[in-house]
This record gives sequence, C-alpha cells and structure tokens, in this order.
Amino acid sequence: MAKRILVTGGAGFIGSHLCARLLSDGHEVICLDNFFTGTKKNVARLAESPNFELARHDIVSPYQAEVDQIYNLACPASPIHYQFNPIKTIKCSTVGMVHMLGLAKRCHARILQASTSEVYGNPIVHPQTEDYWGNVNPIGIRSCYDEGKRVAETLCMDYMRQCAVDVRIIRIFNTYGPHMQADDGRVVSNFIVQALKNEEITIYGDGSQTRSFQYISDLVEGMVRMMENADFHGPLNLGNPVEFTIRDLAEKIIAMTGSRSGLSFHPLPADDPVQRRPDITLARSKLGWEPIVSLDEGLLPTIAYFRKLLFG
Ligand code: NAD
Ligand code: UDP
Repeated sequence: MAKRILVTGGAGFIGSHLCARLLSDGHEVICLDNFFTGTKKNVARLAESPNFELARHDIVSPYQAEVDQIYNLACPASPIHYQFNPIKTIKCSTVGMVHMLGLAKRCHARILQASTSEVYGNPIVHPQTEDYWGNVNPIGIRSCYDEGKRVAETLCMDYMRQCAVDVRIIRIFNTYGPHMQADDGRVVSNFIVQALKNEEITIYGDGSQTRSFQYISDLVEGMVRMMENADFHGPLNLGNPVEFTIRDLAEKIIAMTGSRSGLSFHPLPADDPVQRRPDITLARSKLGWEPIVSLDEGLLPTIAYFRKLLFG
C-alpha cells in the first residue's frame, strides 16, 4: 500500500538513493534537508514526480507533517563535515532525534534511525556483532558523531519502551556509490578523485587499518526490508562483510582507473578505528538480506560517476 514517507537528510548521498527507491515503489516522499552536505542536484530528477516534495528544514527545529514512516538520516556523516561544527553535529543526533521521535509518536509513524558502525568505536570485538557495546572515546574529536549516534539509539529505545513508538535501528557500515561528494574526505571518494586526477593517493597511517565497503544499492535494500519487517526493532548491522586494508583499496582504485598516481603517507587522525567488519548473521536471519555487489562491481559505476563529475 502506498504510504507517505518522510526522509530526513534526503538530499544527501544515501538519502537521495533511498528517496528514488521509495518513489519507484509507489510511495509519496517528503525529502527534508538543510542542505549542509546534501544538494538539490542529488534529487533534481526526482522532483519531476508529483509524489516527491522537497522541504528545506533543519531537524534541530521541530517539524510537523502527517506521515506513515520516517527514515531519519539527517546528520553530517564524513569526519571533516561532522567535525566542522561538532556542537551542531551532536545537536542533530540528540535534539533532532527527539523532534523526529516526537513526530513519530504524534503520527503513530514507524521510524528508522540511521545509526552507524561508529557506535562500536575502535572495536576490540571483531567482527562486530550487535550485542557488542563498543569501545568509544567520549571526549575525542570523533565523539560528537559517535556519542551523538549512541544517544540517538538510547532515545529510540526509550521512546519505544516509554511511549510505544515503533522504532527500527540500523547500524550502517562504510557505504559508497554515486552521489558521494567529491570533497567529503571519505576514503572511497578521496581515492577515486585523486586517482582520476593522477594525484598522490593520501593514505593515513600505514594503510593497514581495515574497512568493509558496502555498495549503496545493497544498503537501500536492507533499509527498506528493515522498515517493512513487522516486529524486529534492531539494532541491526547493515554492511558488507568482506574486509580490505586501506592500502588494498588504494591499489585497487589505481588499477581500475588506470591511474599514474603514487601513494603518499600521512599521519593517522586521532581515534581512527584500526579494524572494522560487520557480522551480518542477524540481518541474514531476520531480513534474509546480504550484500550482492562486490567491491569491484560497485567501484565501476562509482568511478564512472566521479569521472563525469570531474571531466563532464
Ligand atoms: P550525507 O552527508 O551525504 O547526508 C546527510 C544529509 O543530512 C545531507 O543531505 C545533509 O545536508 C543533511 N543534514 C545534515 N544535518 C541536517 C539537519 N540538522 N537537518 C536536516 N538535514 C541535515 O551523508 P550520508 O553518507 O548520506 O549519510 C546519511 C546518514 O547515514 C547519516 O545519518 C550518517 O550518519 C549515516 N551513515 C552513513 C554511512 C556511510 O558510510 N555513508 C555510514 C554510517 C552511517
Ligand atoms: N583514509 C585514508 N585516506 C583518505 C581518507 C581516509 O587513508 O584520504 C582512511 C581513514 O583514516 C580511515 C579509513 O580511510 O582509516 C576510512 O575513512 P573514512 O573517513 O572514509 O571512514 P571512517 O573512518 O568513518 O570509517
């Protein structure tokens, strides 16, 4: 049945793909964004649909609408963006979360919170399972994001227990694809842009730290399945369980772009997690979900996207 769905942060990387999917499933979509890191361009094509509405709004202020579902994605996600104004970042995940949960309570809407693998911090348990409580620095430069998202999860669980709000929590692991910003500082976008320009690939540390990279279409499928599942609230990991070192990634991108770039090594940022890989046993059993796009397959359209963005 067609629903009216609010997507906060809908003009961002993940949000824009999610809005497209929800429209193609026949829903009405309100895309709410303050355009801090998202752009109208990301959703320009969707604006042609009579079922799509774009609202400029900041979730740190209350918002009213009659909706059936809320996907709460509004939050700067890359380290350079969330560290730009850390107080604003934590307000977004706390004050903004309260506003969205209040809206869900009033409308009896189901709400899905886009949490993050950062709630595990620099994890000691590897791969990360949902019952691991994490190893997070509460006072470091990543804390505005990590602790903000942890409080957001707490708020979701408390609104569920105290007010019977129907919440869903997903913990998203590193995701990439078209519509990432060229200058957001994240590793996939940085390396592709540097490789395409034949500039040095900037490796932080010695490149032995690991991440697991999920293509955007796999994530969107998991998000929709989580929202539509009847009674499992999460938290639930959504990520690709294949782990790479950052150096592996650099070498792969150089090869795939045919670049002449070399590697340059720079200091590792504070609190940069040493390893990260999701255990997705729960997603497999609860949603019948697992990623189907390999890193090689996902990098192809992502490289094509950046090539067009940079060179027309
Ligand atoms: P993004 O920066 O492209 O998207 C975030 C969007 O939220 C942007 O459009 C931005 O303008 C908007 N926004 C920020 N603050 C806002 C506010 N106060 N009010 C309204 N809109 C606001 O990042 P993304 O990668 O698409 O991330 C989307 C969500 O997924 C975020 O909540 C992020 O924490 C989460 N997440 C992403 C990843 C990833 O690998 N991309 C991993 C874990 C979690
Ligand atoms: N990284 C890097 N070079 C870059 C950008 C990032 O070596 O130009 C590293 C970064 O230090 C981290 C990993 O790549 O170890 C992933 O960084 P990203 O910011 O994409 O995501 P997160 O650290 O939030 O997982």
